[in-house]
Amino acid sequence: MNMTKQSETSVLVVGAGASGTMLSLQLSRYDTRFRTIDPLPAPSLASRAITVHSRMLEIFELLDQKLAENFLQRGIKNKGYDLHYVNEGKRNVVKMGIDFTTTDCRYPYLLVDRQDETEKVLLDYWHQHFNRSAEWGMQLISVEQDTRGVISVVRNSETGAEEIIRSKYVIACDGINSQVRRCLESGLETRPGGIRPGQTFIARYLRSRAQTHCRAGYMGSLLLT
Ligand SMILES: Cc1cc2nc3c(=O)[nH]c(=O)nc-3n(C[C@H](O)[C@H](O)[C@H](O)COP(=O)(O)OP(=O)(O)OC[C@H]3O[C@@H](n4cnc5c(N)ncnc54)[C@H](O)[C@@H]3O)c2cc1C
Repeated sequence: MNMTKQSETSVLVVGAGASGTMLSLQLSRYDTRFRTIDPLPAPSLASRAITVHSRMLEIFELLDQKLAENFLQRGIKNKGYDLHYVNEGKRNVVKMGIDFTTTDCRYPYLLVDRQDETEKVLLDYWHQHFNRSAEWGMQLISVEQDTRGVISVVRNSETGAEEIIRSKYVIACDGINSQVRRCLESGLETRPGGIRPGQTFIARYLRSRAQTHCRAGYMGSLLLT
């Protein structure tokens, strides 16, 4: 007898990174029935991004001025960036980047903050306003479409128990190595390994650099290795 748990929802959001959390927040605002899953045991502490761009702040502001303020209170305002090219361990070329103070937008600068902190602001806001959170420790294993919608198999990382979720939609927010994309065989290439732990940003380094450059009135530096 098959004892696999079966359930239904309207939307299955796969991945609770920046995209998945933002989408979940929106689905909550529209009172949509949905679930959000992520194989991590808890929100990520790894940062794959450091910049919140003006358009993102404008969108946060449209949702709730307080949400935008949460970001503005935390982040460091940077006028722009220079590009440092590193070749064989040596930083040999520095090129002018973009000066964001000249852009025609509501926040003419780059707001520097770690992605895990950005995600935390969104997760906290989602929890405070809708009493919801992602289902951590739940990994999407497969997706398949039929005439009624999508059938997903998800696995509890701790117990190994599988669940079959039927939904109208599955939304792939599972990053560069998307399992959804793999299952749908869209033909797009996935990069083996994706972002590895060693490739995350060193927050303290960036924070001190950004502050130094802001205070000095120069553009901030982005070191690409
Ligand atoms: C070096 C570098 C610098 C960058 N700098 C910036 C920047 O400054 N500003 C900026 O805006 N962007 C930047 N980016 C891009 C940014 O990192 C990505 O756009 C962002 O991480 C995308 O967020 P996401 O939520 O789509 O994916 P991710 O952050 O990758 O999150 C994907 C989530 O899906 C989950 N997941 C994976 N597999 C499964 C599965 N099978 N089932 C369920 N869940 C799953 C993961 O655990 C993860 O939580 C940078 C990227 C790199 C590589």
